[in-house]
Amino acid sequence: MSDAARSGSKTLGTLVDFGLWPALMTGACTGLAWGMAHGRGPLAFNIVYLLLASALFWLERRRPHETEWLESDGQVGPDLAHTLFTKIAVQVTVVALTNFGIVQQLGARDGGAWWPEGAPVFVQVGLGLVLVEFGLYWAHRLGHEWLPLWRFHAVHHSSTKLWFFNTGRFHFVDTLKSMVFAMPLLMVAGAPGDIIIWVSAITAFIGILTHCNVRMRFGWLNYVFNTPGLHRWHHSMDLREGNKNYGENLVLWDLMFGTYFDDTRRRPPAKIGIREAMPATFWGQLVAPFVWRRFQAEQGNGRGEETKKADGKSRA
Ligand SMILES: [Zn+2]
Ligand SMILES: [Zn+2]
Repeated sequence: MSDAARSGSKTLGTLVDFGLWPALMTGACTGLAWGMAHGRGPLAFNIVYLLLASALFWLERRRPHETEWLESDGQVGPDLAHTLFTKIAVQVTVVALTNFGIVQQLGARDGGAWWPEGAPVFVQVGLGLVLVEFGLYWAHRLGHEWLPLWRFHAVHHSSTKLWFFNTGRFHFVDTLKSMVFAMPLLMVAGAPGDIIIWVSAITAFIGILTHCNVRMRFGWLNYVFNTPGLHRWHHSMDLREGNKNYGENLVLWDLMFGTYFDDTRRRPPAKIGIREAMPATFWGQLVAPFVWRRFQAEQGNGRGEETKKADGKSRA
């Protein structure tokens, strides 16, 4: 290869590295916008989400960030079960909230008292994201810093690799906790239904991207969005890195509350997971958080909690 050809392909490679995340997000949002404009928002969301997942599956094999994360961790079954179980739990909650009239009482109708309904959609979506993020940030941070909640969030962090497939690996109690923290803010603010769909969809798109094992670069995006680069630090076993970057979509509240972390001089660790024990089966993972102390003691990990607690305090 000539020098010119080599430098040309290097430039192209850099463009792809930096362009992938914005291109995938723009593509997903364009698909959703088209569906919303044709009155088919939920259908468009599902199609776009499947396409995004397929694209990430393909990209992970073409250009992995960590090649060792391509190997099976034996958790495909539990990952899938948690994803489905969580979705059911979320839908039951939404139906229950709607049936008991709680949503109506909180004012989740089109255009609340002060919601800027006349503003462009992207402004309303931005406002919705900032509001939801405040709840999601504290739900996530408490999940790390308060032991009774960490036991449930530990299921997500027990993954030993990151890939698009374990995006939904959350104990259903962990997911319900996030909803309880995040949704009331949007409802009280009176965000219109379309904006709630937009915010939920963007959270899903950014969520699947943050877990993907695709080689990408982010530049200034790391100061606005929760990118895969930032989330890989969040999965570090070193709590100086792991108890950081709590934002789900935006890093605004991490920057505000001093929990933002990035180190551009080195790669995030490939060896990730938790210090405590976690059962390998789905049912075991569902039950373990409820009987945490006993389970850790049985696994010869009686000091696991104390270690986490002490480290958490030293970090505060
Ligand atoms: Zn976490
Ligand atoms: Zn994660």
